Formats: sequence, structure tokens, C-alpha cells
Amino acid sequence: MRWILIVSLAIVAVVVVGFSIGPGRLEQSLNQVLDHAPYAISSEAKSLHADLVVGDLHTDSTLWARDLTQRADRGHVDLPRLREANVALQAFTFVTRSPRGQNYESNDADAPDNITLVALIQRWPVATWSSLTERALLQARKLAQIESDEPRSLRVLRSRQDLDDVMRARAEGVPMIGALLGIEGAHALDGSLGNIDRLRDAGVRMFGLHHFFDNALGGSLHGTGGGGLSDFGRDVVKRLDDRGAIIDVAHSSEQSVRDVLAMSDSPLVVSHTGFQGYCPTPRNISDELMQQIAIGGGLIGVGYWDAAVCKVSPAGIVGAIRYGIDLVGSDHVALGSDYDGSTTVPFDTSELAALTQEMLNQGFSEDEIRKVMGGNVLRFLQKALPVNGA
Ligand SMILES: [Zn+2]
Repeated sequence: MRWILIVSLAIVAVVVVGFSIGPGRLEQSLNQVLDHAPYAISSEAKSLHADLVVGDLHTDSTLWARDLTQRADRGHVDLPRLREANVALQAFTFVTRSPRGQNYESNDADAPDNITLVALIQRWPVATWSSLTERALLQARKLAQIESDEPRSLRVLRSRQDLDDVMRARAEGVPMIGALLGIEGAHALDGSLGNIDRLRDAGVRMFGLHHFFDNALGGSLHGTGGGGLSDFGRDVVKRLDDRGAIIDVAHSSEQSVRDVLAMSDSPLVVSHTGFQGYCPTPRNISDELMQQIAIGGGLIGVGYWDAAVCKVSPAGIVGAIRYGIDLVGSDHVALGSDYDGSTTVPFDTSELAALTQEMLNQGFSEDEIRKVMGGNVLRFLQKALPVNGA
């Protein structure tokens, strides 16, 4: 009984401290933008940027206690800032568990969970305290609520029809944003294949298999064993294929990625990453595996933070993109910011034209810029989303 009391008191103490700091301060300390002078954008870059389809494969914004319809003075993404940057397509990815002491080398699957504290501090419903599926569903509901309150601002991309509607609205001058819903790690299934359909019913179309720790599906890139897919992992991949869902292998171990490639013909997404040959950190899988993903028709989102691209600047990010194009071809490289993912980045989403400018500076062709900034995401989703919303 004594240890139960001690553990309870410790949890109460953390929550009390959390409340007194406030969810805003918590987020502010985790999602940072490097101090910088305004990036100079030429009129050529401005007019090209305004004419792009801009898309991003990864942001964790729904984790935080913010109204995403309002411009915030913290974090990296909200609808006003997406509109400022002419963003058409944004993947919102739901974090449901992250281990205390999170690192890129090795995390114990049994480490205490930080997101439980986030849930308590942000006063999420009791159902989310013990169920990771409920944590994902809560985040999906935040976007569904925005869609229902402001249908001209945001559309959840359940089908190709939704994607067509978004692109048509934008062509008519309505800056509607298409939201691709994803999970960051299929521990969000709570170990049940049936939860794939619950999440799909809530609009989730992209399923990340892993996050920072080995889970019931098998090995994470930052777990302890570097193992491949478990039997349950294979069952999940098969069910996702049957449902026509998009599989995201960001954070999966190299063996897990190989196992998925061996059993699935679906093009894979690596929603947020860098390239090992450009930035040799344990966050990035091998160049050879990236080439295999591209050969299978996959799409690789380049992130903006240190462990992905090593140099946290527009030049550093665009250097990684150049490296990626040379490695796998311009049809397979996209943006995958990892905004609001406890990252420190050189600019928030409102300043995305800095990348267009830097690509011009580095001699990218207009065709390459159009593809990487979002054309590839649009083309990928036109094939990967279900024809109907079912
Ligand atoms: Zn991540």
C-alpha cells in the first residue's frame, strides 16, 4: 500500500506542477523556432510560391492545448499560419505515447509515458488516460470539429472526392486546407486489429507503425532490439493493405521496413526523416532502404530539425532535399516538417516561402520545386486515398 501512496502522491505532484506551469508554457518550452531575422523573399520566389501546391506530411499540432483556428504566439502550425504560407495539404499525425527520457538510440518499451502527463495536464477525458486509441480519436475529433465549424477552412481528406473538392475550392480562391489524418505509431490500436476500422471511421488514412519504442507490431528504429515485424505487426500491415490505408514507416526499424516492403505492394510513406548519407544520425535509415522505398513508389518527407537534416536552416533543409532528389529522384521527395513535434526549427509554417527562395538560390528547376513543395503529395494522395469515403 505504501508504494501506491507514494506513486499517487508523485503523480499528483507532477499534475499540480503541470497545471501551475500551464499547458501553454509546456508547449512553448518544447516547440521552438530559432531566433532569426526575417527571411528575405524575392518577388520571383513570392510569385512562384503563391502558385505552388504546398503540402507537408507531418505535424503533431493536435497534441497541444490550442485552438488551431486561431493564430497562436507559440508552436509552429495553426490554420491562419498555414493560409499565410499557401499550404493546401497538411498531414496531422497523432502522438499517443512517448517514453520518458526519449532519445534516438534506445528506449525501453516499459519506460513511463510522457503523453499520460500531457493528457492529465491538458485535462483530456478519463477515457484517454489508459487507452491510446482514445487519445488518437480525441485528436481526430479536434479536426472534425474544425471541419464542421468552418467547412471552408478545412476538409478532412477521407477520399479522393474530398481532395478534389479542396483543390477545386482553392482554384476558386477559397483557401481550404486538406487535412490528412495519421497516427504516429500503431500502439494507438491498443493491440486490436478492430481499432483500425474505428480510426478509419474517424478519418485516419495514414498509419505510422512505430514511434520511439518497440511496440506490439515489432521493432522501432529507437527501440532496444532492432527487430522486424511481429506476427501482430504482419496482421496489421495486411489489414491496412486490405483497407487501402497508407502505411508510414517513419520511426520503424530497418528490419521492420524491410519486412513491410517484402509483404506489401503499397507505396510507403516516410512522413518525416532525413537522409543517412547527408546527415548520419540514428534518426535516419540507410540510403539503400530509401531507394527501395522510392522504387516501390514511396514518398519521403524531409524534416526541418537537427537529427533529420543536421543543419537547422533553410540551406540545411534544402541541402537534404537536394541530396534526396539525387538519391531517389524528384518524384519521391516531399516536405515532412515534424512541426509541433517537440522540435526546434528555423521557421514556423507561415514562413515556408523561405524554402522556395532557398531552392531557387540553390539552382533547383521550377519543376523540382513544384514537386517537392507539395506536387508529389497531391499526386500520391490522388492515388492512395480511397475513391469513396468509406
Ligand atoms: Zn516523429
